[in-house]
Amino acid sequence: MTANRPFDPDCIFCKIVAGQVPCRRVLETDLSLAFLDVGPLSRGHTLLIPKAHFATLDALDPDSAADLGRCLPTLCKAVAQAAGTPHCNVLQNNGAPAGQAVMHVHFHIIPKHSDGSGLPFEWPAGAIDNAAADALAASISRATH
Ligand code: 5GP
Ligand code: ZN
Repeated sequence: MTANRPFDPDCIFCKIVAGQVPCRRVLETDLSLAFLDVGPLSRGHTLLIPKAHFATLDALDPDSAADLGRCLPTLCKAVAQAAGTPHCNVLQNNGAPAGQAVMHVHFHIIPKHSDGSGLPFEWPAGAIDNAAADALAASISRATH
């Protein structure tokens, strides 16, 4: 799957894949590409994308998904080594309300440095609603088939 893969001529990441826009590439396979983020949250902030254009993770084809999954551990290890910290956040935003600015699936690998730089986030954990949780789990489970 190369020439016939989904492509959006208006998509900045498709332009990077096509070589029409430069990037600092760090890893490439037949199906995936990783490069430095041009607006890093911390030193070493890297993006991993499928070469095929899909807007969000749920739309991704299985071969691209498998290849991204194979690349992620390698990339995390390489970024950690080069950035000099073993700690990172892997972030994947879907949809503008969830923080997605570029509508081409991508994973962020964001090193967390000892100076605190990295992904700022809070984790306002709630308590699960036991009365509704069984039905909710069943509903999600049914939707996986
Ligand atoms: P999102 O908010 O969609 O999850 O993240 C998009 C990311 O893409 C941002 O971190 C932004 O800095 C990065 N980005 C946007 N345009 C370019 C570009 O032309 N080149 C590179 N290397 N990164 C980009
Ligand atoms: Zn694209």
